[in-house]
Amino acid sequence: MKVNQAEIIISAASKKQYPKEPLPEIALAGRSNVGKSSFINRMIQRKNLARTSSKPGKTQTLNFYRINESFHFVDVPGYGYAKVSKKERAKWGKMMEEYFAEREQLRATALVIDSRHKPTEDDCLMYDYLKHFELPVMVIATKLDKIKKGQRNKQLKLINETLEMEDDDILIPFSSETGEGKELAWTTMLKYLNG
Ligand code: GDP
Repeated sequence: MKVNQAEIIISAASKKQYPKEPLPEIALAGRSNVGKSSFINRMIQRKNLARTSSKPGKTQTLNFYRINESFHFVDVPGYGYAKVSKKERAKWGKMMEEYFAEREQLRATALVIDSRHKPTEDDCLMYDYLKHFELPVMVIATKLDKIKKGQRNKQLKLINETLEMEDDDILIPFSSETGEGKELAWTTMLKYLNG
C-alpha cells in the first residue's frame, strides 16, 4: 500500500465537527502510551504526523486523518488512565458513544495493545465495547520487537484467549520499530474499507 497523501483534517470535540465527506473510516483505539501514534505513523510512513507520547488528560478529541483522498483514519483518545477526573471521563464516554453508535461510514476498528503483556482489564473492556457496536476489530499487538522470537506464539495465544477474540477478528503481530506486520495490517484494513 503506497500512501501518497496523509493529512490531519480535524480534531473534533463533537459530532458537529466530523468531516462531512462520506469516506469510509477505520477507528484506532488503544491505551495511552501503548504505541498507537507510532502505529499510525508507521502505516502512513510519516515520522510525526500523529503525535507520539501525548500526555494523558490532555484535550480529548477525535483526530480525523484523510489518507490518499480515499478514506479516513480516526484516532480515538487513549483510555484507562487513572489520573483524569470523573468529569473528564464522563465527557470521554459521551464522545465515544456518539461516534461509535452513530457514524455510518465506520467500517472497522484497530485496537492497539502491547504484545509484551497480558491484555489489561481496560483492553478487554475496550474490545467488548467495540464488539457491542458489532464492529470488526483488528487487534494490533505492537512492540513485537521487544519480545524474544521463542516467546511470540505463546504471547499471541495469551492475548487471543484473554480478549476472548471472536473467530472473524484478526490478531496482527506488529512492530512500529521494524515495520513487521505492516503488510498484513494494510491488507486487512483495505478489505474492510473496500468490502
Ligand atoms: P501512544 O500514546 O499510544 O500514541 O504511544 P506512542 O506511539 O507515543 O508510543 C509510546 C512509546 O513507545 C514511545 O516511546 C515509542 O517510541 C514506543 N514505541 C511505540 N511502538 C513501538 C514499537 O513497535 N517498538 C518499540 N520498541 N517501541 C515502540
